[in-house]
Amino acid sequence: MKDKLEGLLKDALAELAAASTEAGLQELRVKYLGKKGELTAVMKGLGGLTPEERPVIGQVVNTVKGQLEEAFDSRAALIREQVKNERLANERIDVTLPGRRTVTGSKHPITLVTEEICSIFSALGFGVAEGPEIEHDFYNFEALNFPKDHPARDMQDTFFVAENVLLRTHTSPVQVRTMLKQPPPVRIIAPGTVYRCDSDATHSPMFHQVEGLMVDKGITFGDLKGILTLFTSQLFGSDIGVRLRPSFFPFTEPSAEVDIACVICRGKGCRVCKETGWLEILGAGMVDPEVYRHVGYDAEQYTGFAFGMGIERIAMLKYGIADMRLLFENDLRFLKQF
Ligand SMILES: [Zn+2]
Repeated sequence: MKDKLEGLLKDALAELAAASTEAGLQELRVKYLGKKGELTAVMKGLGGLTPEERPVIGQVVNTVKGQLEEAFDSRAALIREQVKNERLANERIDVTLPGRRTVTGSKHPITLVTEEICSIFSALGFGVAEGPEIEHDFYNFEALNFPKDHPARDMQDTFFVAENVLLRTHTSPVQVRTMLKQPPPVRIIAPGTVYRCDSDATHSPMFHQVEGLMVDKGITFGDLKGILTLFTSQLFGSDIGVRLRPSFFPFTEPSAEVDIACVICRGKGCRVCKETGWLEILGAGMVDPEVYRHVGYDAEQYTGFAFGMGIERIAMLKYGIADMRLLFENDLRFLKQF
């Protein structure tokens, strides 16, 4: 019986040494020390021994049991330690790894320029006005002194939606809508999308304009020049040269085209300014009395000026963009630069 116990201890210790998980260890504990375990079975057989043998074998049983329990406990501690170390290794955070960047968008150059223009005129007391992109002929042409069959209409290739309904070709109808809604004085700018049948490197069928209108008693061409000089110096720098050239628009009289000194060559002459040293950036003029007649303003009492500019053109000059189509292709590599 003593041999049997020693064999059992040897087997148990060997199996124990091979156990590597807590579950495996628990199984072994049941197998040897459990109620129906092998050691328990031996202990139950003690009753069949002689009174002389009983204390001797009993002693051996206790020793084996004690050794087994100790071996189980130390093996269990070892496995727990291994499991803990493994978990710590797996959960280790490498603080030197580069972080994951949050991708943030940026404003489109057209939006940036529009906001800058609006902020310059807001500081001068101009409010922002808006109007519909689908317009009646009356607001887009008629009230702005473009009579039907007037050759000036050919200056703007129009998308018609229906008879007398069109996609606005400029932001000028917002002037008309504003004046019909309120008596003078008026001081507004109107940024927005406009449409013309035109498409190449410097023209897009959809583009953006900002319109400005100021009407009050005693407004002169000098006020127009003063406001536009201030505007261009704030947008392109205080030393930028400005000149006004006589021009023609149906809804202003007299009219002017406004040039700034070439932002690339600073007036010396280059490819961008076609060697002239000047770049046209906007059209302007004193509001034609015929426009006042359409909106019910008294042309004897009030005078005013209007101006309009293409936002794409300003953005291209400000950021040095050579092809207008870049502004509409939505290539992130391009847009992320702003
Ligand atoms: Zn130039």
